[in-house]
Amino acid sequence: MAGQTNAFEMAQRQFDHVADLLKLDPQVREILRWPLREFAFRIPVRMDDGTIRVFQGFRVQHNDARGPNKGGIRFHPAETIDTVRALATWMTWKCAVADIPLGGGKGGVIVDPATLSVGEKERLCRGWVQQMWRNIGNRQDVPAPDVGTTPQMMGWMMDEYSKLVGEYTPGVITGKPVGGGGSLGRTEATGFGVIYTVREAMKHLGMDPKTCKVAIQGFGNVAQYAAIGYAEILGGKVICVSCWDRADRTSYTFTKEDGIDARFLMSITDQYGTIDKEAAKAAGYVIEPGDAWISKDVEILIPAALEGQINAETVQKISPRVRLIAEGANGPTTPEADEVIKERGIFVIPDFLCNAGGVTVSYFEGVQNDMNFYWTKEEVLEKLDTKMTLAFKSVLDMALQENVFMRDAAYMVAIARVVKAMELRGWI
Ligand code: GLU
Repeated sequence: MAGQTNAFEMAQRQFDHVADLLKLDPQVREILRWPLREFAFRIPVRMDDGTIRVFQGFRVQHNDARGPNKGGIRFHPAETIDTVRALATWMTWKCAVADIPLGGGKGGVIVDPATLSVGEKERLCRGWVQQMWRNIGNRQDVPAPDVGTTPQMMGWMMDEYSKLVGEYTPGVITGKPVGGGGSLGRTEATGFGVIYTVREAMKHLGMDPKTCKVAIQGFGNVAQYAAIGYAEILGGKVICVSCWDRADRTSYTFTKEDGIDARFLMSITDQYGTIDKEAAKAAGYVIEPGDAWISKDVEILIPAALEGQINAETVQKISPRVRLIAEGANGPTTPEADEVIKERGIFVIPDFLCNAGGVTVSYFEGVQNDMNFYWTKEEVLEKLDTKMTLAFKSVLDMALQENVFMRDAAYMVAIARVVKAMELRGWI
């Protein structure tokens, strides 16, 4: 998924760099460089035509010193154990930086969900839980959606787990549908969280949303609500988004210089994130192939798709006008590209800070499940804004105090919190 870049090597390189800066004890390093537990399993699924297909599933639990492991399950054809390891590791840092009492985990299945019928998807989700139910739970490890998985899938998984343990256990998984144990605001959470951190960064940099344009990569859940949030919360213009076109097996950028209408684009996007090109063209969008989003003449870039998208090659295409990169995706920037970005003085809101809104509302969902009492959407989003603003501030303070790049500062804040929890529990 990360092209030439192995995502887990990238996660380890980022960690090693900050571990060196912090002169971290080698024994502590040894604990944190690798996940504590990994599960790899096969999931046999009865297909609609009566045959059986066996899917490869994973769950990686990186570190649970601060609380139960937490993180999504990704359904993607290019999933590997290393992507899951990287994503699980980043979840540990994400929960720590957001200061929510959870550890890091991630799961996956090697599959293109668009090739499955609804019934096949349901059986695959239930099959995943049948393999993992002894090692997940609201006090052990709490999965959630990620790329390729949906609230409905979380609902099926929660149901399967509840049946296996013999009691209704909504808190075993988050990102469930509203009305089925889900939290209001979870759908918007990651994208809006991105925008709350963008707002804080713009204040710090003295940038005005009314005059600053944004280019977004992707048009999945994160990109959609980041686009809506930039326009509706901050009153600014997003001039493009991009999407993977399943039929053409390539990606396209959809641009409107006077501002895209994200809600309109959502109405012409299928459930796998492919925008209808004809409908977009009819509405005046310019459609260009591939990575046109990255060379747009804008002040802000929001990569909100997959890992490794800003790399040694694509980083060269970034316009001199860009002042801020807000990483909505996990791991969108490779260490090589990071060096170029640092030299150019572009301010980066690093992924596990920028996109922590999703897991923060997942945490709120678990809290509401435990209380069996549900908050309004306004309450959820207000609590989310408070958490994201505080997280941004703690990372910015660290960056200014230590005179380091924002990514290193985020690692410093996160590692210190995890190390502290390990000390308090007597692990080190
Ligand atoms: N998959 C999301 C992430 O990467 C959300 C995880 C969660 O809600 O647990 O942060």
